[in-house]
Amino acid sequence: MKQKGFCIFCHTGDDYERVFEVETNDEYSYCPQCGRKIKTEDAVKAFKSRIQFLLKKAYYEFNIKTKYDKAYEKFGDILLYDEDNPVALCGRIESLLMMSTLRQPRFEDASVLINYASKSQLHKSKNMIVYFDFLLKYERIARLYIENIKKMLTNKNFFYDEECVRMYVYRTNQIKQFYSLILQEILFLLGKGLNLTNAELKREMIELNAKKIDDILKSSFTCVDGITYRIKYIHENEISLVDDGIKIDTKLNGYKIYSLVPNEQKKPIIKDRVFKLNRLKYGLFIFSILSMSMAVICATAFFVLAFCIPVYRTIFFVVFGVSILILIACLCARFILKALMKKKKLH
Ligand SMILES: [Zn+2]
Repeated sequence: MKQKGFCIFCHTGDDYERVFEVETNDEYSYCPQCGRKIKTEDAVKAFKSRIQFLLKKAYYEFNIKTKYDKAYEKFGDILLYDEDNPVALCGRIESLLMMSTLRQPRFEDASVLINYASKSQLHKSKNMIVYFDFLLKYERIARLYIENIKKMLTNKNFFYDEECVRMYVYRTNQIKQFYSLILQEILFLLGKGLNLTNAELKREMIELNAKKIDDILKSSFTCVDGITYRIKYIHENEISLVDDGIKIDTKLNGYKIYSLVPNEQKKPIIKDRVFKLNRLKYGLFIFSILSMSMAVICATAFFVLAFCIPVYRTIFFVVFGVSILILIACLCARFILKALMKKKKLH
């Protein structure tokens, strides 16, 4: 059977050039770059651990630092080593989705990548389970996106102005199209006999959420000035809204009113970021690493000192005890961090 191997000897050029194809039935293989003889089993192992290492780095950017542009790059780098890696393919698409902002959503770009990757790689039976799992994540991101932009464009559920209604309608319509792609992919996987617990239930849930998106487009949108709009038609980039003649007292006098564009009234501009950076997770991570290292160094040093300088033994033992307590606190912080990451369910 043919598999990918990684040369453990080459040290020049780009790292991904060290990848070469091996025949697993052969005990030894030869690196085409440096010509060295290598045990096939070792080359395969080295390839797998290289991919694991790169995935860990990409996840670090995604989960801990929440730097989605960097994660996008890192997942893309993995594809240079293994163009068929389903986690890297899907993780790259997920990172792209998380890069979406109010003014620059990435759902259409992601759809292009999904269409491209699904035709060639993600529809392969060995990749289907990973792909299905990621499709659920994509749907969750789309849902969060709509929820978050609504909060950004409204105050107490009233839109700041007609432009905000247009933006919301336009983005909702883009998400509607994204949902149909997700559903189409899920139906394809189920049709191919994907055997996964609750898969049907999840499909139903996504269909229900897609319907909610449809319902948004059928609803009315009231602005802070009390004017209510409905959609007359949406055609590609063109949205026609109609004032339905009802004026509501929104009781929003004195509230801060934001705007999408610079304006004469000097209203503050609505921010662009939809998915916030998670500083808490990153802070906890850095804190736990630094404190843990310090605590280990202090504990060791004062334990040794307690035996070397008997006069201050009590003091040294107290400091040793405090270091151990700090170490325990750090381990707890790591535990909380892991729990937070699980709760987020993004990975
Ligand atoms: Zn080599």
